Amino acid sequence: MGNLNSKFDLSGKVAVITGSSQGIGKSIARGLAENGAKVVVSSRKKEAVDKVALEFKTNGLEAIGLPCHIGDPEQRQSLIAKTIEAYGRIDILVNNAAINPYYGPLEGSDEAIFDKIMDVNVKAPWMLSNLALPHMKEKGAGSIINISSVEGLRPGFGLGLYSATKSALIMLTKHQAKEWGRYGIRAKVLCPGLIKTKFSQGLWTNEKLVSDFTKSLPLGRIAAPDEMAGMVMLLASDAGSYMTGGVYVADGGYMVSG
Ligand code: NAP
Repeated sequence: MGNLNSKFDLSGKVAVITGSSQGIGKSIARGLAENGAKVVVSSRKKEAVDKVALEFKTNGLEAIGLPCHIGDPEQRQSLIAKTIEAYGRIDILVNNAAINPYYGPLEGSDEAIFDKIMDVNVKAPWMLSNLALPHMKEKGAGSIINISSVEGLRPGFGLGLYSATKSALIMLTKHQAKEWGRYGIRAKVLCPGLIKTKFSQGLWTNEKLVSDFTKSLPLGRIAAPDEMAGMVMLLASDAGSYMTGGVYVADGGYMVSG
């Protein structure tokens, strides 16, 4: 009888995590590395990714830092090329980086903002996945995990354009799962609820908003970034070998509240 726990082991696997210099992405990178993966820590700022990679290595984990603004086509190419140069393969791609440049009513934004948010939140994960595809195909296996949001499932905090990008990412994932399953590639999407990071600072520093929000939330609190890593550790590994095309929430019960 095999040991089921060993299915979580990611030894020999290489994972690229965009937006992993802090917040949810950093927790995911650490979790994957703790389970044995060699991780590529990436974000726009070189100093930031180098610092996190060093921190991981100091703690006995395998990591390199590669800067990449995911909205830039050349930097996307270079992220994948340099990962192959360094580690020779890509088994796991976590499309985590995203932006939200605008809070407010739909009609209050403009076309430039729309184009920018679609570019980073939807086009970049699409293109990065396409760039990783040949390397996964070659091995007959791969795991793509796209980080969406409960905002992609339900309109919540007046983040209309951002919500629309996160819905698009969910549908992109379902198509990836459907089209690439034949190559042994699994695609899944994680939808976090409200997590305490820099990204959501405008929400969780608003005491009234947090108090109203958590009152109706089954678990009654917002979450820490580390609470998102476990699901990705499962989805990336053989423990999740039959999981593809799924949408998984980690939201303290937000989707069943109200
Ligand atoms: P965060 O703590 O602000 O971290 C964002 C990360 O992305 C940083 O490493 C940042 O580093 C990087 N980044 C930003 N723009 C980038 C770009 N254009 N190219 C590459 N990297 C970029 O954010 P987070 O809350 O962990 O968010 C991570 C993901 O979770 C996002 O997809 C977000 O939509 C989703 N999410 C968050 C929440 C929440 O409540 N926090 C809820 C639902 C979903 P640099 O500045 O160095 O680039």
